[in-house]
Amino acid sequence: MNILPRSELHFGRALFCPLRSDASGSIVGGSLHQSWLSPLATCRSAGTKGLGVFAVEAISAGTTVAGFGGCVVDRMELDTLDEKYRTHSLQIDDDLFIVSELPFDDADYVNHSCDPNCGIIGSVLLVTMRDVAVGEELCFDYAMTDTDDYDEFECSCSSPSCRGTITGADWRAPEMRERYRGWRSAYIERRDA
Ligand SMILES: [Zn+2]
Repeated sequence: MNILPRSELHFGRALFCPLRSDASGSIVGGSLHQSWLSPLATCRSAGTKGLGVFAVEAISAGTTVAGFGGCVVDRMELDTLDEKYRTHSLQIDDDLFIVSELPFDDADYVNHSCDPNCGIIGSVLLVTMRDVAVGEELCFDYAMTDTDDYDEFECSCSSPSCRGTITGADWRAPEMRERYRGWRSAYIERRDA
């Protein structure tokens, strides 16, 4: 199966994870996932946001619900990749990003919320910050991971605390630093210690 149609890529740049695809882009060992999603959650439609990840059972605070993986690239390389890779990427250092290879895993569809129920532990673990009820969408605030402008967008989370436009500078706001301390990517925790 051809998983990376050249027509969908800018500059002909594709990602080839040796564990998942051969040189032609065909999947090998197709049951191997780059990212892990807890069986307590599932990926399904989230309305106008596209796909999202939702709790299928009640989940206690402090539960690891996803582990993100993929290829690690710097910003220069990220900028050569198609837009869809950028919107499914995760910043893990000042100039490093994890980018998922196609086909995306269910965990790649965890959305942003300005009123999140999950946070980041280490650089790649998504952990519930409070008890989560069945049917709730699992979300984190991208201010917990992003200090770069690689993925700025208009938010449609519709929470009372929605910031509207999400930017790579949001993490600097005193309110964000106070609210998310201990739940931010390790490189931000270190920078803001
Ligand atoms: Zn919002």
